[in-house]
Amino acid sequence: MATITSKLQLVQSRIEQACSKVDRPANGVTLLAVSKTFPAADVREAFQAGQHRFGENYVQEAVDKMAELADLRAQIEWHLIGPLQSNKTRVVAENFDWVHTVDRLKIAQRLSEQRPAHLPPLQVCIQVNTSGEDSKSGVEPAGALALAQAVAHLPHLQLRGVMALPAPSNDACTQHQALKKIREVFDDLRDHGLTLDTLSMGMSADLEMAVEQGSTMVRIGSAIFGQR
Ligand SMILES: *Cc1c(COP(=O)(O)O)cnc(C)c1O
Repeated sequence: MATITSKLQLVQSRIEQACSKVDRPANGVTLLAVSKTFPAADVREAFQAGQHRFGENYVQEAVDKMAELADLRAQIEWHLIGPLQSNKTRVVAENFDWVHTVDRLKIAQRLSEQRPAHLPPLQVCIQVNTSGEDSKSGVEPAGALALAQAVAHLPHLQLRGVMALPAPSNDACTQHQALKKIREVFDDLRDHGLTLDTLSMGMSADLEMAVEQGSTMVRIGSAIFGQR
């Protein structure tokens, strides 16, 4: 069975190839290793292979893992990529470096108020829902600008960009359109004067297409840690 180390290398080379195909520098795409449901020991193995950024979906699971990996705390960047309820904002503000799933102002305000003064600003992305499904989280594209502008003014947050989780599709054309739509929302916010450097999109199955559409941060779980 392939090790986490060898799978990480494979993912890195997929990123490099995807970048070179569209003439983008490979260092323009950051790899976020999504470790949800996998134990702290797997995170440690990936860390030892040189991976220092990890994404988690569930707040309590992540905080437990952080405690087990406390010796690496200064060297690991922890990203929350799962939905965030307002009763969890304090623990998130106190423990994470990034939050990708800000989709309403109330959550952002609480994160800013609760971010401890001794920590750098919490790095955040606005989650945009371009699939138009009621069940999914994320702000509608039409509301993205107003939310982004409000979030950009909060003192203890730093707005970095846009995250999206398009409904997975087996049809390449549909997937391509979905990624393109997200890219357009990101470009539109930048055209309105917001300074954004992060377009968080692309997972194990659509990494190449996401890079082609301008992703700057891919969130990769199963291709590194295995099937969940
Ligand atoms: C689980 C998850 C990922 C990783 O998905 P894989 O298909 O395992 O690469 C990326 N982003 C989010 C928001 C996730 O929940």
